Amino acid sequence: MPTYRLSKSIGSLLLIVFSIACQDSNPATEKAPAAAGLRLITDSHVHLSPDAQSIERALNLFERNGIDRFCVKSAGPYGSRRFAATAALGDRLGDKFAYFCNLDWTGVNEPGWAEREADRLQKAMKRGASGLKIFKALGLGVRDIQGKFMAVDDPRLDPIMRRAAETGAVVALHTGDPVTFFDAPDLTNERYFELLFAPSWSFSDSDHPSRKTLMEARDRLLARHPKTTFLGIHLANMPEDLQAVDRLLEKQPNLYVDTSARIGEFGRHPANEVRAFFIKHADRILFGTDIIISPSGYQLGSLSIWPDEEKDADRFLMAHREYFETDHKNMDHPTPIQGMWTVDGIHLPEDVLEKLYVTNAEKLIFSKRR
Ligand SMILES: [Zn+2]
Repeated sequence: MPTYRLSKSIGSLLLIVFSIACQDSNPATEKAPAAAGLRLITDSHVHLSPDAQSIERALNLFERNGIDRFCVKSAGPYGSRRFAATAALGDRLGDKFAYFCNLDWTGVNEPGWAEREADRLQKAMKRGASGLKIFKALGLGVRDIQGKFMAVDDPRLDPIMRRAAETGAVVALHTGDPVTFFDAPDLTNERYFELLFAPSWSFSDSDHPSRKTLMEARDRLLARHPKTTFLGIHLANMPEDLQAVDRLLEKQPNLYVDTSARIGEFGRHPANEVRAFFIKHADRILFGTDIIISPSGYQLGSLSIWPDEEKDADRFLMAHREYFETDHKNMDHPTPIQGMWTVDGIHLPEDVLEKLYVTNAEKLIFSKRR
């Protein structure tokens, strides 16, 4: 409904402006982290620049918030300086740390690209990686020789997917983006404000493939490689439609999903429905936040208007716990710029929480490092 969405969009805008104006007196940002007594959990989806300052910042943040293990999804391609530095961090932190390598798209339209990348993946796995993370550039950035976007199920990926299966590498896929990023980035778009600050996140022009095209290609890729284990990050990027995620998990036993950067979206469904979904798929969902820690600071699930500080990062992590562990009503979700609505906690049963927070990541990711 255009009128509804328009007023909601303007409402969001006003609320954001208001929250900026009141930033210093916002009680949510003043909550002290409760370090002691927190259950220990694993963040399966982190981005960390492997420099001394960022590492120090990350280790302090995670310790304060009871995150005793974490997995970096952006170690870079094998052979890069970033990969070497991340692998060295792995040597230092041992089984508290895991990492995924990435593809190097250079030369993607030249013969031999896929074999080269499959070989790099194999070497990365031998060095200690747990898998391969493919960013949304697949489908929305990389172009073929004719200038068309490379499809998410392009056959050139097949040798890499097969090598992943052979080496036990998990393939983490970021396919598409939120539904609203494919709508016109105007005032009727409920994430207008975010798109205003990040115009490159808008894919509404006719040049880009539709979200449906991307998702269908992703589904074909999963079906074509039943021996490869996939991790659909951002709840398979379908948090707007839990039934679609449910169907996909039913259809593809080789698929896991993570929660990263999408509580604000799947938290819009009634809490009892989300809770039932998490219980039904308790063995296939990994806790992750998608926090980015770099020399320039933090990114907390999306861009920020102000540079985020330690207390914001603490609030971000605690908001995740509050959502999964309590039945609090009308709470702020972790990344308010994704929408100024509130969410209700889903208070997961203890055994489901343990799988979400620890066991599934151990099984899928951390056990690969031993
Ligand atoms: Zn990420």
